[in-house]
Amino acid sequence: MNKYGNGNGIDGSSTSEAVLNPCFGGDVAKIIKSLRNKAFTCSCKHSFNLKDFKGYKEGAEGFYDKYGKKWSIFVACPSCKRAWTAYELLSRLVL
Ligand SMILES: [Zn+2]
Repeated sequence: MNKYGNGNGIDGSSTSEAVLNPCFGGDVAKIIKSLRNKAFTCSCKHSFNLKDFKGYKEGAEGFYDKYGKKWSIFVACPSCKRAWTAYELLSRLVL
């Protein structure tokens, strides 16, 4: 999961991870609503329903919440802990 661990939080802190939910509004809510509870099979072969959406505040790519904050959204596999980004999930699931 270290592709995100660059330590460049907006406020300078190294940890800017947050649990996301539809209350964040904006595109964050849209993504969560379209992905949650969908069955997903990880590259480790573990199948699980998507939940526990997390996000990193990040400048480069991501989705905006209703406050205009940008989040890189991901869900971690409960088995192998691989972090799947929203982009990867969207491309692998037929919605
Ligand atoms: Zn896995």
